[in-house]
Amino acid sequence: MSSLVDHLVELTRFRDRDQADALLMETLADLIRPLALALHRCVGEPPQARWLSRPWQGRTARHQGARRLDFEQLPPLDSRAEWLACVRSGQPQTLAGEPVRELFPVAAGAQPGAAGVLELQVAQPLSTESRDTVQAIVKLYGNFLALLDYGQRDALTGLLNRKTFDDAFMNTLMGPEAQAMAQDTRASRSDCRHWLAVLDVDHFKRINDRFGHLLGDEVLLLLARLMRSVLRFDDQIFRFGGEEFVVLLSAAQESDVAAVLERLRAQVEQFDFPQVGRVTVSLGFSDVRAGDLPTAAFDRADKALYLAKTSGRNRVSGPTALAAAGIAEPEVKSGGVDLF
Ligand code: GH3
Ligand code: MG
Ligand code: MG
Repeated sequence: MSSLVDHLVELTRFRDRDQADALLMETLADLIRPLALALHRCVGEPPQARWLSRPWQGRTARHQGARRLDFEQLPPLDSRAEWLACVRSGQPQTLAGEPVRELFPVAAGAQPGAAGVLELQVAQPLSTESRDTVQAIVKLYGNFLALLDYGQRDALTGLLNRKTFDDAFMNTLMGPEAQAMAQDTRASRSDCRHWLAVLDVDHFKRINDRFGHLLGDEVLLLLARLMRSVLRFDDQIFRFGGEEFVVLLSAAQESDVAAVLERLRAQVEQFDFPQVGRVTVSLGFSDVRAGDLPTAAFDRADKALYLAKTSGRNRVSGPTALAAAGIAEPEVKSGGVDLF
């Protein structure tokens, strides 16, 4: 029992969802000793959502993340009817066979989509007592995720909030995943360049003034959905302020980032917002450089956004546009750590 409590203490210590997911599996692996264990999560925006499966591979693989996966290669939701049935019913399921598969629904927290199924493969069906214990742990974990999201996600859009940005930025650049990527000799280094984009709604004040704050809020909500559907499922999207959003994404080169952001800009322009009609956005982006503090990358992207605004709005500007306009980059802030 005390080892279970120890596990739960450890499980709820993490502030990073990937690591917490891995800890959930570690807890259940120790408790049940299944033949195999995996967590399948819904990723992407409905109706195009897919399953992202993460098998438990032992303690040492705790940091294995979900980056650099080809979304199109993931199985669509309805191709795994039994997982979908488990999520929809909210009830554990036992699937006979060799091995027996025990499925438990895992809550999404406040993250849109992101519901999941925990799958334990076992030689014999679990006893009622074991099943109840697993279910209780999974439910407790769901409550923990909801709390985590409450502190990390914006209530209106479900996007990550500004508070989480600095940590996410540093983790993207220097976290275990980034280090694993850097050590992966099969991956070309140019695959993992990081970029930061800032998106700001054009003349949002007019939208509020003309249609009221409630419809203004709905624009923001729909915009967040559009961003999630156009951007990759593993791009990180933050609501930074009222009508300002930040995206951390990876791409090989500037033209790739410009193409994605241009697609986003065009989709927003073409979208018919209920009652409001047409809305446009401006975007600025910058590469993220070694030693960058979050503010340094943000300031460069913000400068590009300012250029997009001043050159007519409803457009995307990046480093090339800044250079062509002869605009100097903001002064680089020291990347050193102040100890005192
Ligand atoms: P620009 O094209 O230069 O960006 O013009 P703008 O009107 O969008 O720019 P500005 O930043 O001056 O105005 C943003 C407005 O967004 C001001 C504020 O009333 C509104 N706003 C900020 N947060 C929220 C929110 O959460 N909901 C709604 N409905 N409006 C918000
Ligand atoms: Mg603004
Ligand atoms: Mg604006």
